[in-house]
Amino acid sequence: MLSEEKKNKYQVVIGLEVHAQLLTVSKMFAADSTEFGNLPNTLISTITLGHPGTLPKVNKKAIEYAVKMGLACHSEITRYNIFSRKNYFYPDLPKGYQITQDKGPICVGGIVPIRLSDGSAKDIQLNRIHLEEDAGKSIHLEGEADTLVDFNRAGTPLIEIVTEPAIYSSEEAYAFLSEIKKLVKYLDICDGNMEEGSLRCDANISVMLKGAKELGKKVEVKNMNSFRNVVRAIEHEFERMVTLLENGKEIISETRTFDADTGTTAGMRTKEELNDYRYFPEPDLSPVLISEEWLHSIQVDMPALPRDLYKKFVEEYGLPDYDAAFLTESKELALWFDELCQETSLYKAASNWTMGPVKSYLNETAIHIQGFPVSTQSLAELLELIEEGKVSSSVASQKIFPELIKNKEAKPLQVAQQLNLIQESDANSLQPIIEEVLNENPKKVAEFKSGKKGLTGFFMGQVMRKSNGKADPKVATKLLTELLNK
Ligand code: ADP
Ligand code: MG
Repeated sequence: MLSEEKKNKYQVVIGLEVHAQLLTVSKMFAADSTEFGNLPNTLISTITLGHPGTLPKVNKKAIEYAVKMGLACHSEITRYNIFSRKNYFYPDLPKGYQITQDKGPICVGGIVPIRLSDGSAKDIQLNRIHLEEDAGKSIHLEGEADTLVDFNRAGTPLIEIVTEPAIYSSEEAYAFLSEIKKLVKYLDICDGNMEEGSLRCDANISVMLKGAKELGKKVEVKNMNSFRNVVRAIEHEFERMVTLLENGKEIISETRTFDADTGTTAGMRTKEELNDYRYFPEPDLSPVLISEEWLHSIQVDMPALPRDLYKKFVEEYGLPDYDAAFLTESKELALWFDELCQETSLYKAASNWTMGPVKSYLNETAIHIQGFPVSTQSLAELLELIEEGKVSSSVASQKIFPELIKNKEAKPLQVAQQLNLIQESDANSLQPIIEEVLNENPKKVAEFKSGKKGLTGFFMGQVMRKSNGKADPKVATKLLTELLNK
């Protein structure tokens, strides 16, 4: 085991390469469907298979999706795009080469803002975002000696988001990946599902002495299928590399694979064994020019981004950071909440109710906010009833809210009246009740007057009972204190 003291000498440096499958209907260079879960080798045109004489054609939507991501990350958008061939042999690569972008990515640079658990924020610098096509899938069945290949995935459009080596902890890596997932989902360009492989991440990891100017030698870790596993891989690599260095050994630049069962990594191939991909410009595709007009039309089509809504919730609605982060976690919830805030200006109450009863209901029933049965108007009306003191918040959440969920047509005020839940906050009608309580308990009143102030609770209990739980506690307490001190 490494001592904390030894670990503390070193800084981990991480650069991530994230592949996101684009949600286009058809493939990057062919018309076959990108749908997931079909019978193997049913979505494979002659173009996807690279038959001689076939010609690829660029999918316009894929270009637009990549540009959207670039705009969301403040990247510079390349106007003159050429594609390149990356040549290698692998069973899941039917053409024998992958069409990708080599020297000129569609998005250059950019930043992704992240927030850490200590409340601090920072921007992760991107190197680039480029477009390419996915490979097929090799399938190794249990007990089968042969490898099966499914080419359905081959040709699916991908963007690869590449960061600078500027991520300095596993926590930052996790926050970055969460932010990327959130962004692609807000933009509606990728479903962000890491378990199903629509979002995949390779981690480049190195260590160096703290304060060093030069980066250490990196390893590239592959095959992590969850954010949690990326964190585990980084932590494992940090320990492994620091141990090597502390023992006077050298780190070799290599590609390693992560094993989720053991939480460890193992070498796959070293840099020297790396292929020479013989990149050259794809001769079958003409350059893709992104005109001012086209760029503008993509720009005006951009949806609200998580950071915009976050800012709005904090600055316009005055919500705490915690609330804003919670509410912008998913686009649907954020937009729903924003709609709710068009119906009421009780923003903090709206936030509490969204994070509380509404979210609990969604979790319990496993439905999305789109299917939530209570309209934003109804909920806003309920919040106003609480604010006006007509119903208490516990009555609202325990009695009225369930009724609104059961019956879409129900109106909060009607429900409160029908169930006889309207709070008595009118001093004139509360006064006789309180006087009755005091008249019935002369001894307790005397004890109170001689200093037993703790009896207030007893009197309030009596008032609540007599009013069938409908007395507004605030008004009743005030009135009770006045009458007792008379
Ligand atoms: P390669 O030529 O090995 O593919 P690149 O320069 O293309 O390397 O970088 C690939 C990824 O590795 C990028 O995300 C980059 O930030 C990251 N990276 C490069 N050098 C280091 C390093 N020393 N430590 C950690 N990550 C690094
Ligand atoms: Mg690279």
